[in-house]
Amino acid sequence: MISARKTYIIANWKMNFTPGEASLYLHRLSNRIPAMRNVQVVLSPSLVSLQPLSLQINRRQFKLAAQNFYWQDYGAFTGEVSISQIRSFVDYAIVGHSERRYLFNESDKDIAQKVAAAIRNGLTPVLCIGETAEERRNGETSAAIYDQLIGGLSQVSEEDISKVIIAYEPVWAISSNKNARPAKPEDIKEAQLLIRRHISKLYGDETAMDLPILYGGSVNPSTAPGYLNIPGIDGLLVGNASLIADSFCAIVESAKGKYDER
Ligand code: PEP
Repeated sequence: MISARKTYIIANWKMNFTPGEASLYLHRLSNRIPAMRNVQVVLSPSLVSLQPLSLQINRRQFKLAAQNFYWQDYGAFTGEVSISQIRSFVDYAIVGHSERRYLFNESDKDIAQKVAAAIRNGLTPVLCIGETAEERRNGETSAAIYDQLIGGLSQVSEEDISKVIIAYEPVWAISSNKNARPAKPEDIKEAQLLIRRHISKLYGDETAMDLPILYGGSVNPSTAPGYLNIPGIDGLLVGNASLIADSFCAIVESAKGKYDER
């Protein structure tokens, strides 16, 4: 199948790898993952590795993403790093990850400011949203998703919404959670439809259809092909499995299979 739509495979390395380890790991991946027209591989190392890796990567092969940043561009904010300070190293910025929401108490307002800061600085925000196990049990999945979309996108104009990627990451499926269990394809299909329905109300039908939506949560080489086959899912955000070259390369390989690469 030939398609103009891209598949995104985003590796979230979280707080792992020293700069030296990250560089060696990137070297290993770059020998195994080719530059592809329809598959965009994005690596998200720790902040401290962004600059050295930006000098090392072939940007046709990989792009880099920030895992976190402060929303103001400059000023007296001791210990913080702004997106304008790192924007020459990265093309994407992960915003609203559940570990930031629940471990670091980031509010929808903080997240909205970060989404706006990424866009203002010419980057693509990857806005992570997803319900907790409790919200799901209480039948509040749709409301939770709606609130996080409304909150996170509150400063995004109709003109800028095409610069955003959404990652649906149900909190109960993320491997850092004690009782994590992988989502079923039918759950993801349903959530993806919900997200498009909400986006359609906010920005119209065409935007809702075009918006890239990724899935993240305990993805591994055996579940990736099934997730990538879900209609309306444009890629994967991968945590744990992105730290092991064999697993990550196999996941990228399954995205490659989605398209004819001629
Ligand atoms: C994540 O934290 O974004 C994630 C998807 O992690 P994991 O793949 O380890 O569940």
